[in-house]
Amino acid sequence: MWSETRPRWIVYALATEVAALGLTASDLVIHPVQRSDLLWFTGLLVLGIGQAEMSRQVERVRRWMAGQTHINVTSVWYVAGAVLLTPGWVALLGIALYLHLWWRVWRHVRARPKYRVVASTAGGMLSCYAASWAVHAAGLGNLADAHVSALDGAAIVLLAAAVFELVNLALAVTSIFLNTHTRSVTDLVGTWGDNVLELVTLCLGGLTALALAYHPFLVLLVFPPLVMLHRLVLLKQLEVAAATDEKTGLFNAFGWRDLAARELARAQRSRSACGVLMVDLDHFKRVNDTYGHLAGDSVLKAVGELLRAEVRDYDVVGRFGGEEFAVLLPDITEHHAIAIAERIRTAVTKLEVDVDVDDDRVATVSNLSVSIGVAVCPDSGTVVDRLLMAADTALYKAKNDGRNTVVSVGSSI
Ligand code: GH3
Ligand code: MG
Ligand code: MG
Repeated sequence: MWSETRPRWIVYALATEVAALGLTASDLVIHPVQRSDLLWFTGLLVLGIGQAEMSRQVERVRRWMAGQTHINVTSVWYVAGAVLLTPGWVALLGIALYLHLWWRVWRHVRARPKYRVVASTAGGMLSCYAASWAVHAAGLGNLADAHVSALDGAAIVLLAAAVFELVNLALAVTSIFLNTHTRSVTDLVGTWGDNVLELVTLCLGGLTALALAYHPFLVLLVFPPLVMLHRLVLLKQLEVAAATDEKTGLFNAFGWRDLAARELARAQRSRSACGVLMVDLDHFKRVNDTYGHLAGDSVLKAVGELLRAEVRDYDVVGRFGGEEFAVLLPDITEHHAIAIAERIRTAVTKLEVDVDVDDDRVATVSNLSVSIGVAVCPDSGTVVDRLLMAADTALYKAKNDGRNTVVSVGSSI
C-alpha cells in the first residue's frame, strides 16, 4: 500500500475505514438485536453467497483483468439490506459478503490487493448508512411493515437506491482523484455504459427488497438477470481490454484505429479538419541497453502520461507497439497540430523518469527526445491508413533530419 498509493489516499482510506467501523460498532451497541434483523440478514447472506458462488468464474476473470471498474454486483444485496435491515447489520452483511468473495475469488487473483478490498468494503458500508438514514429521515416507515402502502414501499426503495448510488459514487470519485489526480470525467465516474450497468444493479437491489418484503419466493426471479448482468459487466471489461495497451493504459493500435475511423467519418460529415501525430522516441534502444528493459517500460509509461497531459481530453492517444505513439487531434488546423507537436517535443526533452535499476538502486533517465510526423485530414487523406502512412513518411523525414524534430507532411513536400 505504501509503495502503490499516495499518502493522501491512505489518509482518506483510513478515515473511511475508521468511520465505517465506528458507526457499525456504535449502531450494534445502541440497537438491541431484533428478530427481523437476524432473519433478513441470514436471508440476504444466503442469497449473496449463492449468487457469488454461481458467478465465481466470471468474477475471477473480471478481477484478474484488473483495470478500473465502478460496477460492483454486490450492491444488489447492499441496497436490499439498506432497506430491510438496521444499518449496523447491513454493514455486517457487507463485511460477510466481501470476506466470502475475498476468500473464494479475490485472494487467488494478484490484481486485487487486500487494502483495496478493505477500502471498498468501507465505502460500501458508508453508502449503506447514508441510504438507511435517508429512508429513516424521510419518515416513510419500514418496508417490512404490513401497513406500508405500495407507493411508500416504492418510494423507500427508490430513495435508498438513489442515496446509496450518490454516496458510493462520491466516495469512488474522491478515492480515484486522490490516488491518480486525474481530471478526466470518464476516469472518475466511468463511462455511460458503466453507469447504465450500475443503474441496473440498483434496480435489481430495489426489486430484491420488494420481493423479500412482499413475496420472498419472488426473489428467485432476480437471479437470472443478475447472473446475466455479471456477464455483461465482464463483456464490457473485455471490450475495454481488447482496445487498451497494457503497458501504458493508452489505446492499442486496434482501439486507436477504431476510434480514429469514427472521428474521421465525423470530421468528413461536419467538414472539419483533424490531425494525426506519429511520435517515435529517439534512440530508445540506448535506454534499454543502459538501464534494462523494465526501465525502458517505465519510460514508455511516463511518455504515455506526458502525451495524455499535453493534449485535450477528447484527443485520442494510442501506443502503436514498440516506442511509437499515435495521437489523433479532432477539429484542428495544420498550424495548430504542428504547435501541439512542438509542445510535446519540448516537454519530452524536459522529462525525467526515475527507474529501478537494481533492487536498491534508482536512476534518473533524462535527455530523452522524440521525432514527430504530422499529417492532417483532408489534405493528406480522409481514411485512417492514408493519414497514418502520410504521418509515418513525415516521421521518417524527421528522423533523417537529425531527430528531436517535428515535420509536417505539408511542409515536407
Ligand atoms: P530511432 O531514433 O531510429 O527510432 O532509434 P530507436 O532505437 O528508438 O529505434 P529502433 O527501432 O532501432 O529500436 C526500437 C527499440 O525499442 C528496440 C526495442 O528494444 C525497444 N522496444 C520496443 N518495444 C519495447 C517495449 O515494449 N519495452 C521496451 N522496454 N522497449 C521496447
Ligand atoms: Mg525510436
Ligand atoms: Mg520505432
